[in-house]
Amino acid sequence: MKKCDYCAKEISYYDQYCCKECERLTLEYHQRTERFSKLFYIVNTICVFGIPVGLFLASFSPAVGLTVATLSCVVLGLMLIFLPFPTESMIRKHKLQKAIKISRIFGGCVIGLGVLIVGLAFILKK
Ligand SMILES: [Zn+2]
Repeated sequence: MKKCDYCAKEISYYDQYCCKECERLTLEYHQRTERFSKLFYIVNTICVFGIPVGLFLASFSPAVGLTVATLSCVVLGLMLIFLPFPTESMIRKHKLQKAIKISRIFGGCVIGLGVLIVGLAFILKK
């Protein structure tokens, strides 16, 4: 059975979407991806490197290192919530709607990780 490209509802073999709304949302998603993909990849790259670099720096200068790591987590997390661009394989596997949801949840987790780093640093300092 074929599934709607957006919400994964079962549809007939000849359709791509179950309804106009799903088609519209998919189109909007692709327009957003096109418009912001550069920004997304730049921020993504900086933050993904920023987290380990920050943690590494923390062994020399805890204040600087932890700030870098935490900021990277928070920025990356916020971006994933506002610009949830899941990978192609995620979209193929889960269809767009669920893949976007997973990206947002992941973004929330990344922010949580940032908070955790600050929390741990605070506890370890005592
Ligand atoms: Zn649908």
